[in-house]
Amino acid sequence: MKRILVTGGAGFIGSAVVRHIIADTNNSVVVVDKLTYAGNLESLTPVADNERYAFEQVDICNRSELDRVFAQYQPDYVMHLAAESHVDRSIDGPADFIETNIVGTYTMLEAARQYWNGLDASRKEAFRFHHISTDEVYGDLHGTDDFFTETTPYAPSSPYSASKASSDHLVRAWLRTYGFPTIVTNCSNNYGPYHFPEKLIPLIILNALAGKPLPVYGSGAQIRDWLYVEDHARALYLVVTEGAIGETYNIGGHNERKNIDVVKTVCALLEELVPNKPEGVEHYADLITYVTDRPGHDMRYAIDAAKIERELGWRPQETFESGIRKTVQWYLANESWWKRVQDGSYAGERLGLQ
Ligand code: NAD
Repeated sequence: MKRILVTGGAGFIGSAVVRHIIADTNNSVVVVDKLTYAGNLESLTPVADNERYAFEQVDICNRSELDRVFAQYQPDYVMHLAAESHVDRSIDGPADFIETNIVGTYTMLEAARQYWNGLDASRKEAFRFHHISTDEVYGDLHGTDDFFTETTPYAPSSPYSASKASSDHLVRAWLRTYGFPTIVTNCSNNYGPYHFPEKLIPLIILNALAGKPLPVYGSGAQIRDWLYVEDHARALYLVVTEGAIGETYNIGGHNERKNIDVVKTVCALLEELVPNKPEGVEHYADLITYVTDRPGHDMRYAIDAAKIERELGWRPQETFESGIRKTVQWYLANESWWKRVQDGSYAGERLGLQ
């Protein structure tokens, strides 16, 4: 049995990783999460009573608290997901992105390295620090037949992707300079259950159900490569347990879709699954509203995931069609989860949202 420290475990992907580890392995997890607006303990309800799960509300920029957590839980692996993650928020206010994504990753690296230095030889050799990152560090693609590989040069466009690129560089420098055992993964756009409703797919589902406009940036021609979050969670667990130190693995689902087509697919599924529409709405797709494009908006992302498929035998289980159907069905069945996000009650009084 391994002890895994998961930062950002109350977020969208982190909570999927924690649910996967608790449900499908015999390992234990300690979540380190500051509980920003994006952190939601209700996404961890399925594991909350499990004795292999623990939660620590800690900011990854707080070195003394991190030292306490490492000493107390003695992890074998770190999976570092905590980050500010929303591109639009990074454009409106980059400061938190610099603080959490860059300074926070640096603080995690130093706390983890000090802890690792104190381990006995066999645990030291087995230790892994897995940094979870994004394909947005590569910038964008303009053709239709090229893909990001692990050796694509970095060219980030937004404050978000620049801060993630910085953190990736720090992680690789800690490997090269200190011999600290790191692994990096860069993944394409995730979607699925428990996704915060500011992101495209849940926003479209919930706005459509409420009869509100469905905002689409520019002409909606931007292409993203979509991966079902549970497929990502399985890939991350495989990488931290079986990946090679010092390697980078790109993760993606071979599911390139134009944003406008994603929105139309969601509308078609809602037509099928929720035929009783809000008053005044004849077709959900009539709610599509084109809005001014995001500054610096990347045109196309597409991942070549051949390395993780070849070396670790990972394959996504969901196609886009099966995953998006599951996702829409999940939102329809879990109104209490997203209603509590919308009205702020998921955060109790901690964020002053109520
Ligand atoms: P999220 O915004 O849903 O969750 C982030 C979590 O980190 C939240 O629980 C939040 O409370 C926590 N957090 C934020 N600042 C913190 C701090 N200073 N200290 C401790 N905890 C803090 O993000 P997500 O979509 O789950 O993404 C997780 C990771 O995966 C991020 O590193 C992101 O860059 C990366 N990633 C995301 C995607 C995607 O499509 N969502 C794709 C590729 C990579």
